[in-house]
Amino acid sequence: MPEETFVIAGASLAGAKAAETLREEGFAGRVLLVGDEIERPYERPPLSKGFLLDKEARDKAHVHEADWYDKHNVELRTGTSVASIDRAAHQVTLSTREPISYDRLLLATGASPRRLEVPGSKLQGIHYLRTMADSAALKQALAHGGRRVVVAGAGWIGLETAAAARSYGNEVTVIDPEPTPLHAAMGPELGGVFADLHREHGVILRLDDGVAGFWGAGQVSAVVTSGGAEVPADVVIVGIGVRPNTRLAEEAGLDVSDGVLVDQSLRTSDPDIFAAGDVANAYNPLLGRRIRVEHWANALNGGPAAARAMLGQDVVYDRIPYFFSDQYDLGMEMSGVAAPGEYDEVVYRGDRESREFIAFWLSGGRVVAGMNVNVWDVTGDVQALIRSDRPVDPARLADPKTPLAELA
Ligand SMILES: Cc1cc2nc3c(=O)[nH]c(=O)nc-3n(C[C@H](O)[C@H](O)[C@H](O)COP(=O)(O)OP(=O)(O)OC[C@H]3O[C@@H](n4cnc5c(N)ncnc54)[C@H](O)[C@@H]3O)c2cc1C
Repeated sequence: MPEETFVIAGASLAGAKAAETLREEGFAGRVLLVGDEIERPYERPPLSKGFLLDKEARDKAHVHEADWYDKHNVELRTGTSVASIDRAAHQVTLSTREPISYDRLLLATGASPRRLEVPGSKLQGIHYLRTMADSAALKQALAHGGRRVVVAGAGWIGLETAAAARSYGNEVTVIDPEPTPLHAAMGPELGGVFADLHREHGVILRLDDGVAGFWGAGQVSAVVTSGGAEVPADVVIVGIGVRPNTRLAEEAGLDVSDGVLVDQSLRTSDPDIFAAGDVANAYNPLLGRRIRVEHWANALNGGPAAARAMLGQDVVYDRIPYFFSDQYDLGMEMSGVAAPGEYDEVVYRGDRESREFIAFWLSGGRVVAGMNVNVWDVTGDVQALIRSDRPVDPARLADPKTPLAELA
């Protein structure tokens, strides 16, 4: 029988972890990992934290040692994209025009930053953050301090880069149309904690306001807000969310709607094509609906799950969405989904003021999400509570003397 070929489009965390799992599971066929970035696969969280702050070496972010790919007979093609898919012929064509026949194909093409399309958006000094090169350029712009930095978007990327910019001694203003930071991720209640944190560190928050345009002659010099204010700026960072990279899937006629639609085994509408990571909008049986998760842990676990499904194993991918962030001296982990409309109550255990607490989002008396702030080793318990789907007594949930494990 001829050797089977598995192609992975996208050489980042989901793609690299899928390749690793194929080998771990004993797949002896050809594995081709194709990535359009020059860099070998790397993780992105350090790009807005340790690497941006110059506290972490570039190499620490790589998923594997440089020689891992050869050692495991994984053909890594960097600086190359998968240009098209011919599903009928079971063939992809690379940007080098090379056709490659595949038996199974994994789409791990991730996501790209949403662009601000406003007047002046092509001026110099406006940064987006997705790649290592973006992070290096931003570090260079921030590292000398004393610059006026405006951050568009008070989401995770916006807040983490604001913290980094302040650490370097820059003036920082964050602009966001919502009334609280992180509004889309966790509703209004907890946003105040992050607003206070940033204000205490000298960040100016312009909430309920948006970016309407940029001024400057070649180089950005001010941000014009929708409220009509003009905020002086030497450096602008835009962090207004991402869009899944679905072009390949769309052109191949796969089902796409806010990501590539996949079932609980991460299989697309074509039985030989799978999708994982930021690009996948996957049916999660635990939540009873599809969800597209833009977090590191979903790439870390989704890539391997897809690899096992590609090998014909019975896979049910039902991970609870999990995210972490570090800003100044605040570290947090969040599990579950706490977007506005997903919950009706927030319960706190611990001290919000000293920023050492766990927040629980409840819907109909059941925990749907939890966030531990400067409290550690509770993620397992928080996720068990979410998974149990049982009504909990809010008073006991709030009481630190009641072990969380007792409530699940
Ligand atoms: C600055 C930053 C900080 C973050 N911090 C955190 C954090 O603290 N916690 C957390 O949980 N998450 C964090 N994330 C999110 C996390 O990094 C992503 O969820 C994760 O990178 C998704 O991995 P992925 O492999 O699915 O996709 P990606 O990392 O987007 O990788 C996809 C790769 O595929 C390539 N590609 C696209 N199309 C093609 C094609 N046709 N052919 C070949 N290659 C292609 C892309 O260029 C890219 O290299 C952060 C993200 C960023 C940008």
